[in-house]
Amino acid sequence: MTPSTTLSADLFDRARRVIPSGVNSPVRAFGSVGGTPPFLTSAKGALLTDADGNEYVDLVGSWGPMILGHAHDGVVEAVREAAGRGLSFGAPQAGEVTLAEEVVRRIGPVEQLRLVNSGTEATMSALRVARAATGRDVVVKFAGCYHGHVDALLAEAGSGVATFAMPGSAGVTAATAKDTVVLPYGDREAVTSLFAERGGEIAAIITEAAPANMGVVPPLAEDGVGFNRFLADTAHAAGALLISDEVLTGFRASREGHYGVDGPRGTGEDWAPDLMTFGKVIGGGLPVGAFGGREDLMGLLAPAGPVYQAGTLSGNPLATAAGLATFAGLDDAAYETLGRASNALQQLVADALTAEGVPHVVQTAGTLFSVFFRGEPVRTYDDAKAQDTEAFTRFFHAMLEGGVYLPPSAFEAWFVSTAHTDEVLDRIAAVLPAAAKAAARG
Ligand SMILES: *Cc1c(COP(=O)(O)O)cnc(C)c1O
Repeated sequence: MTPSTTLSADLFDRARRVIPSGVNSPVRAFGSVGGTPPFLTSAKGALLTDADGNEYVDLVGSWGPMILGHAHDGVVEAVREAAGRGLSFGAPQAGEVTLAEEVVRRIGPVEQLRLVNSGTEATMSALRVARAATGRDVVVKFAGCYHGHVDALLAEAGSGVATFAMPGSAGVTAATAKDTVVLPYGDREAVTSLFAERGGEIAAIITEAAPANMGVVPPLAEDGVGFNRFLADTAHAAGALLISDEVLTGFRASREGHYGVDGPRGTGEDWAPDLMTFGKVIGGGLPVGAFGGREDLMGLLAPAGPVYQAGTLSGNPLATAAGLATFAGLDDAAYETLGRASNALQQLVADALTAEGVPHVVQTAGTLFSVFFRGEPVRTYDDAKAQDTEAFTRFFHAMLEGGVYLPPSAFEAWFVSTAHTDEVLDRIAAVLPAAAKAAARG
């Protein structure tokens, strides 16, 4: 039985007249899977409700922020209380201080933090600091890593070799793209030879702490040295910086983000990125990003330093209240719950796909995971693109019809929350066999 989507379809028609493609962020348009995106009216815990009254188990979680589940009582109450005291001051307020203290306490390399309004702003600002600190222009990024829609970071890879990147989006100038070099993810030789050739021009390497925007592609250790540590060592030897983008992994991969997985606390290896970026979880569902790092680097920011960076709504009291209330719920028990739900769901999906002979691989970074529709491990963007996206599309629509809302793309992580109880997982388990069958029907 296909759920009725009449009201969502009407809204989508109206939306497309006045909003480009009907959406305010591209993946929401269901472009790669087709069909009508449900227009949502409410959400509670692990469940979403759409305009037609259909209910879905949510595995998107607003792309990460809803780590405690939707409309969490503590978070909603904190925002309501803050709203009663004023929506925005454009002046300092206590919540900003407490939130920065919480991040500094959790994340070793962050000595100082500045709040912004999105992950995009965070990476854009971190790049500016890195270029100012080094007096150099070139930034190195990896193919398949997403750092928001910053002009300089939209560039994708040519294959296999270090190349000057194409801009990656219309409207980005060649001059901007010229200062971005894109390398294949995980390719240490490419990093080493680029630095041998052009080390003196490179301001920073920016990388997702664990790439999760091409699906989850965890950094691999070689001879006991993690990839991120290798990047830090290589950058530092050339006087460049490492920017670790934890907008997605931060406070999700573990209590200390992915740095809790491959930093000193996870592996005993002593290394640190110079700057880090955050978003998603840090705002608990309100628009927040942050960047932070060593005090000498963050000290370059205006007004004390020469690097201009600002924001009318930065440090907004509702946003900091939501972030703080989310952190209050993220104790060790919460990460245990998340880990259990994540593991259980991985197993359920793998079992269902295996039973129908659907080639797949589940990859993880801490409690974060994704499912690739491909038989072999995915190590690079090219690997990720070699998925059977049509099998994913059939799987996606069968899940949606069965009341499970997956990311509408084969290149995204799946998100669970502490509200994904056994009962919720049972609802997903009930839909999986039919969806696996659909995926198998090539
Ligand atoms: C989501 C994301 C961003 C961009 O954050 P926005 O808040 O969407 O601007 C940057 N980096 C990573 C790793 C992300 O996952």
